[in-house]
Amino acid sequence: MTQASIIDGKAFAEGLRARVGTAAVGFEARTGRKPGLAVVLVGEDPASQVYVRNKGKQTVAAGMASFEHKLPADTAEADLLALVRELNEDPRVDGILVQLPLPPHMNEQKVIATINPDKDVDGFHVVNVGRLATGLPGFVPCTPLGCVMLLKDKLGSLSGLDAVVIGRSNIVGKPMAQLLIAESCTVTVAHSRTRDLPEVVRRADIVVAAVGRPEMVKGDWLKPGATVIDVGINRVPGAEEGKTRLVGDVDFASACEVAGAITPVPGGVGPMTIAVLLRNTIVAAHRNAGLDFDESAL
Ligand code: NAD
Repeated sequence: MTQASIIDGKAFAEGLRARVGTAAVGFEARTGRKPGLAVVLVGEDPASQVYVRNKGKQTVAAGMASFEHKLPADTAEADLLALVRELNEDPRVDGILVQLPLPPHMNEQKVIATINPDKDVDGFHVVNVGRLATGLPGFVPCTPLGCVMLLKDKLGSLSGLDAVVIGRSNIVGKPMAQLLIAESCTVTVAHSRTRDLPEVVRRADIVVAAVGRPEMVKGDWLKPGATVIDVGINRVPGAEEGKTRLVGDVDFASACEVAGAITPVPGGVGPMTIAVLLRNTIVAAHRNAGLDFDESAL
């Protein structure tokens, strides 16, 4: 029986945040100001509040300025759009993130389309989606970019490898597939209508699971030695009554017996998302200030 090596996303994210911190010091020395990230939260969704708080804390810890804007749930869409336009013009703000989901009376696409694409550090604006698809420099959604960083750190070149991405969301699955194409993988995108998913997954040297179904991918679906990136975050009942625990989209125990390497949940992909957001912000700061900066060293 093989035992997969564990891909430590928490440690990688710490290293990335430290490199971002060094770059932030350099940026401040050259420009006289800290790189700035503005985060806009509309409403009181508890999970979003936790994300926004963590983003703010980590932004400050990396030596950047954090601008938090909390708006009530009944804010008019026009007022949110006006705030986004203000942030677009604000020279202290290098990156803008509007926390999703927005309340139902707001049109998310319209809000995202109002963000200046060169400050769109979430990479959700259609201009950045198009840049990713055509290979132009832009901003790439944080979670899939974090997954590719972990894969390259583990495997080196991904060229020629067979990759299966399970899930086709705009936030994870689709950009993940684009990034893997850019790394010269042969990419299959599987989804809820895919026929015989285990057979499709069995071909893959790289499996990225971004589904939102607890422990769906079993060890016996995997090709021996495959590298498994588990994006899923699912809360399920724990062993003790009334307690819960987090699991991924991959059945970790059985996958460990077959995979070559695997990300755990928690501690795998999860910690990468905010670290990559900070990475995108420092990149935006240098690009928008017209400063030379080696982005590949991050
Ligand atoms: P989503 O609901 O938008 O998309 C899920 C995708 O899975 C869909 O494309 C659907 O076709 C596919 N799918 C559903 N059932 C399937 C099945 N039975 N077989 C094959 N495919 C199936 O979800 P998302 O936003 O892409 O997120 C996916 C998971 O990743 C969630 O658990 C989410 O919590 C997690 N996530 C984690 C992070 C992070 O680590 N920071 C970030 C984003 C999302």
